[in-house]
Amino acid sequence: MKRFCSLTKVIVSLIVIITLYACEKNSKLDFSIGLIADCQYCKVEGEGIRKYSKSNGKLKQCVAHFNTLDLEYTIHLGDFIDRDWRSFDSVIPTYNKLQSKKYHVLGNHDFSVDDAKKKLVSKRMGLPSDYYDFEVKGWRFIVLNGNDVSFHAHAKDSKEYNFAGVYYEEHKITSPKWNGAIGESQLNWLKITLAKAKENSEKVILYCHFPIFPKNVHNLWNAEEVIEIIENYSNVQAYINGHNHEGNYAVKNGIHYLTMKGMVDTEVSSYGILSVTTDSLFIEGHGREVDRSLVIRK
Ligand SMILES: [Zn+2]
Repeated sequence: MKRFCSLTKVIVSLIVIITLYACEKNSKLDFSIGLIADCQYCKVEGEGIRKYSKSNGKLKQCVAHFNTLDLEYTIHLGDFIDRDWRSFDSVIPTYNKLQSKKYHVLGNHDFSVDDAKKKLVSKRMGLPSDYYDFEVKGWRFIVLNGNDVSFHAHAKDSKEYNFAGVYYEEHKITSPKWNGAIGESQLNWLKITLAKAKENSEKVILYCHFPIFPKNVHNLWNAEEVIEIIENYSNVQAYINGHNHEGNYAVKNGIHYLTMKGMVDTEVSSYGILSVTTDSLFIEGHGREVDRSLVIRK
């Protein structure tokens, strides 16, 4: 009888372990995303820390690595090139070798092309529009365009360029002129998109080229306005960006603010794999990028 009891105990324990393992597995990985920031390729030898001409090689290696993984999608967080329209001809074919779905965020340097070509950048990079959103397994991903109001993205003396001048003066912007702002109609679209996501019980991750938190010289001109909006929505989990090649991280009122390091800097590459689970966002850093585990708020 005693032996029977111990055997039963062993079987029950095994069932518990197997069940816990299965639950753990279920709650573990929902999907993974490839994250790259500031590839910033151009055919120019490095200026100091920036190794522009090495970026296509780093991107090729990153794409080859990502193609060994099962990624839901890959996103490049802006500044795909540094200068010259023809730089796109080198890095777009590399990026197109990705087997996962692929997205782009617009960066300031993506507009370092002739004035006549500025309006064609978004199309050349294959963006569905300058800002957009999409859904994956109950998560809403919102891709912002921080060059909406900008001196970079518009031809000199165009009405958009002149508007940036007025905006910069009137709002007494202290953030440098190479950054930009999200304009009024995009902010309205953001509010509507966040409200819809909330209604549908979707968790939200925002992408933009420019950081908004913590305070930094690289921040979006209207960083505080954007923070104020997204903090109204408890389903917003993270805001992920590039632009500041050093990388950065902070958490404020339940939102994780993550700046990915720039691939272009140094001889060593930098990129990450974001694993989305039911209770955390895990970033596996490669090259100079570091690992991070960010808890999702309920
Ligand atoms: Zn940038």
